[in-house]
Amino acid sequence: MALPSISGTTKFTGLIGHPVAHSRSPRIHHHWLAKHQIAARYLAFDVAPSGLPHAIKGAQALGVLGLNITIPYKENVLEYVDEIDPLARAVGAANTLHITAQKICAYNTDVYGIAENLRSGAGDLSPYLSCALVLGAGGAARAAIMALHQLGVREIMLANRTLRNAEQLAASMPVPVQIIQWENKEKALEHVRLLVNATSLGMLHHAPLTLDLSCLSTDALVHDSVYAPLQTELLTQAQARGNKTVSGIGMLLYQAQAAFEIWHGIKPEIDAEILQLAVRGG
Ligand code: NAP
Repeated sequence: MALPSISGTTKFTGLIGHPVAHSRSPRIHHHWLAKHQIAARYLAFDVAPSGLPHAIKGAQALGVLGLNITIPYKENVLEYVDEIDPLARAVGAANTLHITAQKICAYNTDVYGIAENLRSGAGDLSPYLSCALVLGAGGAARAAIMALHQLGVREIMLANRTLRNAEQLAASMPVPVQIIQWENKEKALEHVRLLVNATSLGMLHHAPLTLDLSCLSTDALVHDSVYAPLQTELLTQAQARGNKTVSGIGMLLYQAQAAFEIWHGIKPEIDAEILQLAVRGG
């Protein structure tokens, strides 16, 4: 079905980040807007760091309905909003703004994205809830830690290349996190039932994540937040030794689903069609 044509009442939504050219969100949102015949559009805006506050205020002045926020602004965007949803505050990062003439509210739908992705990708999560290891200490790691906490993971460990960033994360989140030295992450896999890569390692045009999985039980679950490529080396390596795996593409779709609902009041369906559309790169 085609999108309703542009008129004087068309609503605007979009994405702010730096860079954004790779984003699949315009395609995902336009598919749902067409499906539900909502007169709106979704555009990606590459905003330089000095332009962030102006872009957000400008969006409000223009009557933009909502914005997604991506790398590198998920954390500092909180400085420029009027209200922060309790979950976004707990995570210390937001990826969705709902904008009205009166106020700008910040939400974090990445937490829902990763939690739903794990639920739908792995089914019964109870075998994986004793101990998790999260790699990374950026926005995705923050969302992953909160999602794991919500899902009932009893022990959450964190390893990050820069120890100070891991320590800052652990000190600022309302969830107990045990820090593991980056050099010791492979040894720590002995206890892990759920491994989450939340670094940018493995992403297209980035270095691969080189991780020796031999200490990880083959009954453990492996989640990669990276979705481009869809099949990362981590997932290939884990699958080859029999581990159940979940790809980051579902996280992308579920966080988009929650943002769409905040803006348009409709929860769009995650079906084979949208999955295929999101998987297609470019
Ligand atoms: P970020 O805030 O920039 O954090 C990047 C993380 O990767 C940091 O912990 C950084 O460690 C680590 N890192 C970068 N290069 C490294 C290297 N060479 N060796 C070891 N560690 C390295 O990014 P983010 O927003 O958290 O995103 C992280 C990943 O999650 C990205 O791949 C992103 O695409 C993915 N993501 C996916 C979704 C989804 O919907 N599927 C949503 C959000 C993010 P330092 O602290 O040492 O710099």
